[in-house]
Amino acid sequence: MVASTQAQEPSKQAVSIDLLITGGTIVTMDPARRILEDGFLAIRGDEILAVGSGPGVAMQLAPKGMIVKQTIDARGKLILPGLINGHTHVPMTLLRGLRDDVTLDEWLYKNIFPAEAKNVSEDFVRSGTRLAIAEQIRGGITTFADMYYFEDAIAEETKAAGMRGVLGETFIDFPAPDNKTHEAALEYTEKFLRRWKGDPLIHAAAAPHSIYTDSQKTLQDAAALARKYNAPILIHVAEMKKELDDSRAQNGTTPVQYLERIGVLGPDVVAAHCIFVNETDREILAERRVGCVHNPSSNMMLASGVSPVPELRAAGVAVGLGTDGPAGSNNDLNLMEEMDLAAKLAKITKADPRALGAQSVVEMATIDGARALHLEKEIGSLEVGKKADIILIGLDAPNAVPMYDVYSQLAYALKGSDVESVIIGGRIVMRDKKLLTVDEPAAIAKAREYKNKIESSLKSPAP
Ligand SMILES: [Zn+2]
Repeated sequence: MVASTQAQEPSKQAVSIDLLITGGTIVTMDPARRILEDGFLAIRGDEILAVGSGPGVAMQLAPKGMIVKQTIDARGKLILPGLINGHTHVPMTLLRGLRDDVTLDEWLYKNIFPAEAKNVSEDFVRSGTRLAIAEQIRGGITTFADMYYFEDAIAEETKAAGMRGVLGETFIDFPAPDNKTHEAALEYTEKFLRRWKGDPLIHAAAAPHSIYTDSQKTLQDAAALARKYNAPILIHVAEMKKELDDSRAQNGTTPVQYLERIGVLGPDVVAAHCIFVNETDREILAERRVGCVHNPSSNMMLASGVSPVPELRAAGVAVGLGTDGPAGSNNDLNLMEEMDLAAKLAKITKADPRALGAQSVVEMATIDGARALHLEKEIGSLEVGKKADIILIGLDAPNAVPMYDVYSQLAYALKGSDVESVIIGGRIVMRDKKLLTVDEPAAIAKAREYKNKIESSLKSPAP
């Protein structure tokens, strides 16, 4: 078993370790997809220093001795890379359940946009983000990609909670709650990108909403600004049939080929949904190294359609998983559920239970999610030198036993609520189901307060 140890710097002196996790089953998601029984993980600072398995951790890791600041006994538990929520709008937790069971068009234009116009403030955004962070950490999510307004405030809350985020300030061609004009959005976003440049947890991004809410100029300006700062570009792509039909009528081509023609696509783009993508579109997405994010709950709830995930993967596109929403298009932030649904949605659509398997959806929630966000060098697997984003999942619940196959258990049997401890960048943010970096009762109380405020705002005439 010694062979499976990788130590970053075999030292002649005692090795100092900030956090040592021992005894669990490590699902590495490394290139060989190793699963290590009786595994150990050593963490120093925000990185993984060593990962291995077998008895005699100290001898394997540090024959000359080690100084360990903190340990976690993970016997009987699964140890995974933190889950990656590739697409969401976290402050919308406060609009959860406001209006469901209507078309995306009606939901967006008659309900969400008006509710947002009347209620979204910096305080709204901060409150919703705190709630979403609590919910996400509880479900084992360590990184999320977000598109919203006041994104700088979302970044502050995310950083304060010790969570990792790819956070995109929205560009949309109507007066947004934060920036009333395109020029104001450009100015705000440039300041935002500059402020967070180089931050270990926060990847500030530009988020042109979609081709149906943004002019060509808005899309190109947002992309150019992001590229000036080597920042990611987050966008909704080919989510609705109407979007495809309108694009054909107005641009003479599909949404993907329109974005290609105007120079938006590239290896820094994260495209949410990618439902209406034909074979040529899929080749373009692969060639341009665009990351796609599949949101099965949202696509089913809004009856948007089914993303051709097996075909995208076969074409070589990195496909991650997202919750979207939460309001009206999910309504929760539970990536374990998205794994389950992604597999089952592909199976029923193709009438073939082999269409998308358990291991594939666990990949989408971890290493492929990292590739989709262009962060695969940092996160997505448990390997030496990567960020220490780690989750521990308990295996003692009735739904967790017996376990014949780890991937199958993760995809189809285990729940977000089985996640017990969460570490992000080496920092323990949840231990034995207790959140350590967010005031959860306060976040819940604030959400209830906002419900009353939002309900009465919708009864009053438009501002
Ligand atoms: Zn979305």
